[in-house]
Amino acid sequence: MKASPEIAKIELKEEFRVCPKCGYELGFHSSFLMDGEGYRIILICPECGARYDVEWKM
Ligand SMILES: [Zn+2]
Repeated sequence: MKASPEIAKIELKEEFRVCPKCGYELGFHSSFLMDGEGYRIILICPECGARYDVEWKM
């Protein structure tokens, strides 16, 4: 199992579609990370694998 890249915090503006790390423009995959009672929604760049926390919880 390869180590997960660090999760960067992102402050959402009008749209978050372009990966700040590699410039990939077609949006993100999502994953759900257990955090206490709920889950954090983590966005993952399909191109470079960078992970972003947009502070959404479920
Ligand atoms: Zn990327």
